Amino acid sequence: MRYECIECGANFDIKERLYVCPRCKGLLEVEFDVEEIEEKLDRRRLKIQAPSVWKYRAFMPIHDDSKIVTLNEGGTPLYKCDSIAKEVGVRELYVKYEGANPTGSFKDRGMTVGVTKALEFGVKTVACASTGNTSASLAAYAAKAGLKCVVLLPSGKVALGKLAQAIMHGAQVISVMGNFDEALDIVCRVCEKRSDIYLLNSVNPFRPQGQKSIGFEIADQMGFKVPDRVVVPMGNCANIWAIYKGFKEFDAIEIAEGIPMMTGIQAIGAMPIVDAIKRGLDKFVPVKKPETIATAIRIGNPVNGPKAIRAIRESGGAAEAVTDEEIIVAQKMLARMEGIGVEAASASTVAGLKKLVAQGVVDADECVVCVATGHMLKDPEEVVRVSEVPTEAPAIYEEIVKLIG
Ligand SMILES: *Cc1c(COP(=O)(O)O)cnc(C)c1O
Ligand SMILES: [Zn+2]
Repeated sequence: MRYECIECGANFDIKERLYVCPRCKGLLEVEFDVEEIEEKLDRRRLKIQAPSVWKYRAFMPIHDDSKIVTLNEGGTPLYKCDSIAKEVGVRELYVKYEGANPTGSFKDRGMTVGVTKALEFGVKTVACASTGNTSASLAAYAAKAGLKCVVLLPSGKVALGKLAQAIMHGAQVISVMGNFDEALDIVCRVCEKRSDIYLLNSVNPFRPQGQKSIGFEIADQMGFKVPDRVVVPMGNCANIWAIYKGFKEFDAIEIAEGIPMMTGIQAIGAMPIVDAIKRGLDKFVPVKKPETIATAIRIGNPVNGPKAIRAIRESGGAAEAVTDEEIIVAQKMLARMEGIGVEAASASTVAGLKKLVAQGVVDADECVVCVATGHMLKDPEEVVRVSEVPTEAPAIYEEIVKLIG
């Protein structure tokens, strides 16, 4: 097991505490040797055990099992969605419902690994900047681990449910008067100076190692087969890369063969990666003032952008941007046709898929999985704002009966 720079290819000792490549500042990846995984892997148990992040322990970069900090993350439902499949026009559609994680988003899969690493590195404080879900998750895992937690949130821009979680789990919440990209820049600088604080942001190379279990679980729940395509919302772009890496590792070790076409969706007001993919560029141009109701993907300068571009290109996938209106329509479709409550960012996947089918980019014969990254109750204010106002009525039996019709 080692760090590998995705830009210059240099390798570094995994026991060192690194965020980016010391040589070129490129993003780091954690690479395993197949033999290393084989040694720890129990293939018979893999076939019978229920999915969860730690079921795939052999693929996790942890040295000391006694330090594992877990709230039983992962093992989320993979719902078969026939009504939406028909509506958008694909043969088979599944939704991987990450809202069912302990704090209501896929971030928990990364934090169980990231906070365990914090204990292995022996720090007492963890920190992040976040649009909300990363903070909510880090606050909960830090609480479980007995670590101090500092979170920087863009002032006035965080969904209520996420803010509530960070506060209630006891994090020190700093409301930064600026946007997410600015908060991220500051927390990175703090952690560069202060070696007693471990940074659990999107640049952290360990969080994606937990998040790749989304890929493992999709394959696992489909009987160790892979779908044609996986659709993921892109914010800081760690997740699409992580899921891609999960499929690559399962393929390399011959647990599930093939790699799905990784398909990334952004909102029109924050689409630097979609823009780069469509124009065939290797580098993306950051968006200065990102705007969308989908706060989890309201990110103008995605730190893992280069990884997302690679995941999409290497897997023969696609990228598309959607409007807020299209996101709201998809959010209602999921809630009303399938009973799945997701936050706006998650609904962008179904909205994007619909668009890609209409354009002929996605074939009608495909089997597609949309990753619904977070729970609907994360942003109750958005939900109420886009929904019908409840009918007011007097507390009179006849009036109510009349209303029901
Ligand atoms: C974090 C998050 C995203 C974006 O994931 P990235 O890895 O930053 O691309 C999307 N949806 C939800 C609900 C999130 O919490
Ligand atoms: Zn490098």
